[in-house]
Amino acid sequence: MTHAPLRIGVLNGDDIGHEIVPASHAIADAAARASGLAIDWRPMPLGRKALDELGHTMPPGTLETLGTLDGFILGPIGHMAYPKVPEAINPHPILRKSFDLFANVRPTRSYPGLGCLYDDIDLVIVRENNEGFQPDRNVVAGSGEFRPTHDTTISVRVITREGSRKVARAALEIARARKKRLTVVHKNTVFKLGCGMFVEECYEAGKEFPDVAIEEVIVDTFAMKLVREPQRFDVVVTTNMFGDILTDEAAGLVGGLGMAPGLCIGRGEIAMAQATHGSAPDIAGKGIANPYAMIESTRMLIEWLGRRRSIPAAARASELMKAGIEAALADPATRTPDILGTGTQGDMVEGILAAMRERAPVAA
Ligand code: ATP
Repeated sequence: MTHAPLRIGVLNGDDIGHEIVPASHAIADAAARASGLAIDWRPMPLGRKALDELGHTMPPGTLETLGTLDGFILGPIGHMAYPKVPEAINPHPILRKSFDLFANVRPTRSYPGLGCLYDDIDLVIVRENNEGFQPDRNVVAGSGEFRPTHDTTISVRVITREGSRKVARAALEIARARKKRLTVVHKNTVFKLGCGMFVEECYEAGKEFPDVAIEEVIVDTFAMKLVREPQRFDVVVTTNMFGDILTDEAAGLVGGLGMAPGLCIGRGEIAMAQATHGSAPDIAGKGIANPYAMIESTRMLIEWLGRRRSIPAAARASELMKAGIEAALADPATRTPDILGTGTQGDMVEGILAAMRERAPVAA
């Protein structure tokens, strides 16, 4: 090993997180060992299990420890089912805010045979992560949603120049490495100031990327075009809530939520692998949750860290994972039922590991 080990936290989260995160860890670990990539894995308690065993969904010291790492894998959080006690907080917004993970990079890609609506989709939606309409992260204290009278609720949407410019830059960097095209999705026809500012800042950031062509599409039109002509888009940037909805729509084009990975990045050196889907309590413990989104998010983290830190072994590990994933997805016996498979989650994980072993015999 010619590099310092990457320190990566492993936080299962809730429900299917206890299945798909260990699966992702096992696959990434096998790929790393076969590729000469040193990873110091740091399992950490978080979520309902941490509440039951340690008295808090995010035990004291979690943020401090995460801050010493290079990145972490975060399983889905089922906070809606937490008991209503002060110790049961939703860690999501805190994690994203604390590490300034302002860009949520969510690729959508077709694989053959899975029931994708088109066989040639390959796009990336970059969702602003830390402001917008989400009331739990757009204020320092209190909530961005409040009820002044019994019959009136007010939800506040926050758009800042800095937040918009930062996410635009992150998207432009991705666009520069792909087809040099960026689609800005907004609704400045109605939200003249909020979306207006977002669009202005996208163009402002675009001045630093003269090689990237920027187009604008109004969000409702985009929602329609995404269904009818998704091949038309390559890299897309949008505000938080539009991104939340559109990335689920995009997932629907390629087999559903199990096929929707994500990587939360910022300007700092730390990144968080996090699938788009929730903790899916309805299928937890049944062995049928699709681990793809979490495994692919983990692969994206390793690839990103390798690029940032110039570690060739990380690129090799990422390529090996990619080959394993593609091989398993190509065979119904090593796919979960949600993507027209006949296998279980365990079959899929074994399929990926076996395909990696064929290509790199050292993989365990
Ligand atoms: P959140 O708001 O936290 O994102 P959600 O309300 O969107 O959560 P999910 O937990 O994502 O809900 O589940 C939505 C549906 O998608 C459920 O029927 C669930 O079983 C299914 N689903 C989610 N993730 C997966 C997965 N990895 N594999 C198979 N099905 C999944």
